[in-house]
Amino acid sequence: MLSWFDRNQRALPWRQEYNPYHIWIAEIMAQQTQMERVVDYFSRWIERFPDIHALAVAPEQEVLKAWEGLGYYSRARNIHRAASLLAARHGGEIPDDHGQLLALPGIGPYTAAAIMSIAFDRPFPVLDANVQRILARLTDLDRPLRAAGTQRLLQEVATRLLAGERPRLFNQAMMELGALVCTPRHPGCDRCPVRDHCRALAADVVAERPLPRPRQEGVRITMACVILCHHGRVYIQQRLPDDVWGGLWEFPGGRLKAGESPDQAARRELREETSFRAGNLRPFRTVTHCYTRYHVTLHAFFSNLGQCSHVPVLRAATDYRWVDLAGLSGFPFPAGHRQLVGHLKKNWKNG
Ligand code: SF4
Repeated sequence: MLSWFDRNQRALPWRQEYNPYHIWIAEIMAQQTQMERVVDYFSRWIERFPDIHALAVAPEQEVLKAWEGLGYYSRARNIHRAASLLAARHGGEIPDDHGQLLALPGIGPYTAAAIMSIAFDRPFPVLDANVQRILARLTDLDRPLRAAGTQRLLQEVATRLLAGERPRLFNQAMMELGALVCTPRHPGCDRCPVRDHCRALAADVVAERPLPRPRQEGVRITMACVILCHHGRVYIQQRLPDDVWGGLWEFPGGRLKAGESPDQAARRELREETSFRAGNLRPFRTVTHCYTRYHVTLHAFFSNLGQCSHVPVLRAATDYRWVDLAGLSGFPFPAGHRQLVGHLKKNWKNG
């Protein structure tokens, strides 16, 4: 595995110095994100926040903006909170201590093990999705990864494999093998360095390992929002801190109630969230996006402000702005609303 890794590893920016801060950021970014995108985001991030002190003093809005597009924004807020704690209590350094890492916001057992092994070369097995898949195939595991007791079993296997190896390189070799060779579909068993030890290959059941987990039904959600215009500016508001996209910005709106049409819901949500009255609603765009198991359809309407006062009564937001088109680029939006901003810009350009 080590010599295979030596020959085949990808040149990733955080593999140059193994700076613990870099490893931490890369590990959090890589959760649920493809590596090519991580490299882009990582490079911009390190340029903007070169160390933990710079990150700790940055405004949250800048941190969220740097994260925009990666999704799961609680990760960015946790990184920011952890940076403040590290600056205050650890001199702006990542502690070489598993327990202290686990005490930081957003660092669970997986990330703590990854930092301990990859940044500090300590013997902590790392069980990301790639490694779990390899182990399920190597051991010909005949139950789903989420089944009771399976994670502990894999942890024991990974710990045994790691014993006596060089943790930094061995863990990365496993993760890299899963990313490049032992892929979910069409694994390259003919060029795999551990094929002679693979029980799933010997039993000709590679395609059935790991066993799929029971299907979870997707949930469809329909939402509506209003792009409210007033003197060449549009209204945006900042979401409450404790919801899934807390701290991000949006056009006011929400879910349709039973029997409601999208325009009725848009009008009602605008009134409930801001006390604004909309003028005529004109359909603008309908966009769709998915997160976790939710499939969201968002209907957006244009409207002019139907009243004199342009000051809202905020009931679902902590802050608001009236911004021109260029100004919208300075704010982080969740996926659906970001698509609307893109359409607004295109429409504007095309007159
Ligand atoms: S032989 Fe195939 S299934 Fe087994 S570990 Fe290697 S790539 Fe994965």
